[in-house]
Amino acid sequence: MLEQKTAEQSAIRKHTKQPDIQQYINGRFVESESGARFVNHSPFTNEVINHVSKGSKMEIDKAVAAAKKAFKEGPWGKMKVSERMKYIERIADLIDEEAEELSYLESLDTGLPIAQTRNMAARAAENFRFYSRMVQTRMHGEAYMQDNEFVNYTVYSPLGPVGLITPWNAPFMLTTWKVAPALATGNTVILKPAELSPLTANKLAEIIHKAELPEGVFNIVHGFGETAGATLVAHPDVEAISFTGETVTGSAIIKNAADTLKKTSMELGGKSPLIVFDDADVDRALDAAVWGIFSFNGERCTANSRVFLHKNIKDTFVKALKERVQNIKIGDPMDPATQLGPLIDKGHFEKVTGYIEIAKEEGCEVFQGTVPEELKTGNYVPATLLLNATNDMKIAQEEIFGPVMAVIEFETEEEVIAYANDVKYGLAGYVWTNDIKRGHRVAQAVEAGMLWINAQNVRDLRIPFGGMKASGIGREGGHYAILEFYTEPKVIHVAIGDHRIPQFGK
Ligand code: NAD
Repeated sequence: MLEQKTAEQSAIRKHTKQPDIQQYINGRFVESESGARFVNHSPFTNEVINHVSKGSKMEIDKAVAAAKKAFKEGPWGKMKVSERMKYIERIADLIDEEAEELSYLESLDTGLPIAQTRNMAARAAENFRFYSRMVQTRMHGEAYMQDNEFVNYTVYSPLGPVGLITPWNAPFMLTTWKVAPALATGNTVILKPAELSPLTANKLAEIIHKAELPEGVFNIVHGFGETAGATLVAHPDVEAISFTGETVTGSAIIKNAADTLKKTSMELGGKSPLIVFDDADVDRALDAAVWGIFSFNGERCTANSRVFLHKNIKDTFVKALKERVQNIKIGDPMDPATQLGPLIDKGHFEKVTGYIEIAKEEGCEVFQGTVPEELKTGNYVPATLLLNATNDMKIAQEEIFGPVMAVIEFETEEEVIAYANDVKYGLAGYVWTNDIKRGHRVAQAVEAGMLWINAQNVRDLRIPFGGMKASGIGREGGHYAILEFYTEPKVIHVAIGDHRIPQFGK
């Protein structure tokens, strides 16, 4: 049973009901015009956590109008950069102050183990601090002297109101990854968070409210994708859409954005390979393979959902994988010892278990951990290995987005590169080998936006983040977000001499 919020906090916090959530429009928390609400469920018990105001066209129109007014008439975009950054850094400080609560809300809402959400708030705060530094050091233009007659220089200006549409996996971290550069560059924002994970988005609104950003600079419309999301995308006063989510949704958004010729950034799905050659440090490769698919409940875009093992090490590697899978601690997401929690909702649970059934039909040996009886009310899928898989199987081609690893044997470098690339996605890839030349060769040959050699998925905020093929268009992160997406470069030509002007019609 979900307890009332007054329940005392202990080392393992209880799952509590939460206050209902409103829209955040023009600096105020408000109900939607229709009064409609939707229910937010617990992944741990499937009981009601709270109700969320359901925004539709009316709320999007109001939020966009507020963001437009704040951009055109307000001080935000025209503010001295150093002054705007004081707000950005204040948001970071407030996130740090709320770190424990943010981690609790994230685990409550998504089922992610608390040990894994604990550092998300720190990462989110760093997103704001990073973009404060980045804007102050990199959002400058260039100047070119042309023939001693002109100085041509560029300036980078914010776009105006931008729409940010975010998914339910790692929602707080991913949302701040967009909000921080969008605001720091001087845009105004309308955020449409995922309907399955509204709690930390609402907390972000409270934090931004407390940081006293000018009215209308930051707005949230809670609601469903096909209504609130699609209206935001189609709105003529929204200059750009930054989207993270499923590939099919990304496609629908690009089509919808075409009529108003919007700039779009797409961070989409993945089916990333992890390749272990027979000369690799196998123990470390094993740690990385297990962490890369079973952390964050396997609901991770860069998860190594396809693991390719060289035939010489396959049997010992699989034996070790089986031991790990049986020992992974499945439990209450609030328990700091838990390594694997429940999936986001019933629908997703059914999708993931459906793929495991398909794997059986396709001829895989399915090896799984077990879900303890007392957890059966939650959306738990145990850590799962799909053994003896082949790359052409449906389970090796489609994104499952759960704690499910397909294990595929290979013999030669050429063969495994062909397998790695024979998939519609191209987000991430991991290569394990102690042959330095092979490591680089394979990493360069794999069609993906981000490759790691002998490393798990560590992030460097300065590098471009994103994928190729069906995994995305454009890059977030580093100076890419600010110079290639959230701003528009403008060039100004200044004559410094009397250059020749054609005497036309004289
Ligand atoms: P989703 O596409 O179902 O939903 C994402 C967001 O889009 C939600 O806010 C949803 O309401 C909204 N939406 C849905 N239909 C819409 C429409 N027609 N118009 C406008 N908005 C719409 O994705 P999800 O299930 O929330 O997230 C999981 C997916 O996200 C996985 O495929 C995962 O790989 C991907 N992902 C990618 C990255 C990356 O960086 N590449 C990061 C995280 C997650």
